[in-house]
Amino acid sequence: MSAGIYIHWPFCERKCPYCDFYTFGREHPSFALGGRYLEALVREIAGASQRFELTNKPAADTIYLGGGTPSLMGAETVEAVLHALREVFDIDPAAEITIEINPTTAEAILIDELLQIGVNRLSVGCQSFNDRVLKRLGRVHDAATTRRAIEKMREAGVANLSLDLIFGAPTQTIGDLKTDLDELLTFEPEHVSAYNMTVHEGTPFARHEREGRLTLAGEDEQVAMFELMMDRLAEAGYEHYEISNWARPGFRSRHNSKYWRRCDVYAFGVAAHGVIDGIRYENPRDLANYLNSNVASSRSDLLTERSRRGEIMMLALRRVDGVDWSEIDEWMQADARAYYRAEIDLLAQDGLIEADPNLRLTRKGILIADTVMEAFF
Ligand code: SF4
Repeated sequence: MSAGIYIHWPFCERKCPYCDFYTFGREHPSFALGGRYLEALVREIAGASQRFELTNKPAADTIYLGGGTPSLMGAETVEAVLHALREVFDIDPAAEITIEINPTTAEAILIDELLQIGVNRLSVGCQSFNDRVLKRLGRVHDAATTRRAIEKMREAGVANLSLDLIFGAPTQTIGDLKTDLDELLTFEPEHVSAYNMTVHEGTPFARHEREGRLTLAGEDEQVAMFELMMDRLAEAGYEHYEISNWARPGFRSRHNSKYWRRCDVYAFGVAAHGVIDGIRYENPRDLANYLNSNVASSRSDLLTERSRRGEIMMLALRRVDGVDWSEIDEWMQADARAYYRAEIDLLAQDGLIEADPNLRLTRKGILIADTVMEAFF
């Protein structure tokens, strides 16, 4: 099966106070290192044959430019990266090529140029169409900017558009989320991703929460928001195919599906995560080291056996349609049902998973997926 390729661009207009990705806002001195970063990225890609001991050009049919805000790269830089990739990989002419785009960076000229060089899927970080919520999230864009950006994308001929929403954001009510969904659906996106607000240690939001300056929706309200997302998007004809992702028929993300199916994904860039032969690896979160060509990654085969198996179960459970036990057994090289018999019986009794004939979360299980998955670690 063809591989996927992930590229990490670690620069953003401004660092959002809830974000724990390895990125630098314009206000950070490292933001000025974009030129050197591109050189290091191209060098890392060129060295892939040796690093991964490739004997020929591996076939790849998805490329995902993420970050960070890769739309800040500009079309010329994206083209340089695509060129470097074609030297090492046999890229399918019909490859899905996605770029994450921030509404403030979506100039019409950029969109035209991106389409011309082969980018065919745009993923827009809308988060909300409510200016109060956006402001509270510390986003640089407002809702009017997002609306204009999406219109420009459609006018330019973008036929595969993914829109991102956040739910459970500070001050956001269930009524706000309903309005967000109504507006999102007016753009008829081919794909929707929705993420529950999470406070990550080490971020300004974590500090604000400790100081009592940040109140998030309670658990019941978050569950009600998730249910609203599921019901509203199902009514509008979207398939819920992964816990946080919905698509119109034929528009599931081919790239992200590779992670959930444990296909090979070569990842390039500082702090990028890839998977080769089922082994997850992570480039170090250290820009200075990365710029000096030091990309000695950490590998998931160094995990304990229990954690490795737990990761496999977690990936399987993310797929809403369910996964054949034979697929899981092959990944685990063991009888997964026998190994996890006690956990499976308990979760099934509680109505959180179904184990026959395939493994899948129930609707009740999807709503508290993180808690269910913890049982397997
Ligand atoms: S734009 Fe996205 S990647 Fe950048 S800081 Fe904000 S949340 Fe993080």
